[in-house]
Amino acid sequence: MLKPSLPTTIDSRQAADQGRILGGDIMLLKLERLSGYLVDSDGAVNVSMTFGVDEERIRYVKGCANATVRMLCQRCLEPVTLELEAEINLGIVADDEAAKQLPRHYDPYIVNEPRQDLYQLVEEELVLTLPLIAQHQDCVVKTEYGEAAEPSGDNDRKNPFNVLAQFKANKH
Ligand SMILES: [Zn+2]
Repeated sequence: MLKPSLPTTIDSRQAADQGRILGGDIMLLKLERLSGYLVDSDGAVNVSMTFGVDEERIRYVKGCANATVRMLCQRCLEPVTLELEAEINLGIVADDEAAKQLPRHYDPYIVNEPRQDLYQLVEEELVLTLPLIAQHQDCVVKTEYGEAAEPSGDNDRKNPFNVLAQFKANKH
């Protein structure tokens, strides 16, 4: 791996005060919760983040996380490749009360410990972008009309698709 890896934890408030800019890759293997939704955990998440303080004196973290992942297509049950892209736009606050005061363009990032888990932050943002139901864009269930309807040279075998083939033949 030539690319630098991100720190696993960070003091977000300090990072904001320092205007830190971070970038790097997180191996999908390290993100167990996200990987739980995927066919495999090959590959990495590319992350870029900017910490800072805005003109209203609100500490923020902005950036994006991208990953190419494979989920199971719920139609054909084959892997489908998806490009995940999470936009990170968080206002750093100490508690729920402060979260309510945030301008609407920020999502609250409640920080009440000295250091925060950066991997967990990225993971949560990516999990939010997962589709409810993964599907190929042009998913064709092959056994329905395609492969199974081809003459196989084994026509004597009981084949539930013969009924379908006859049905199709009768229509013409
Ligand atoms: Zn499919």
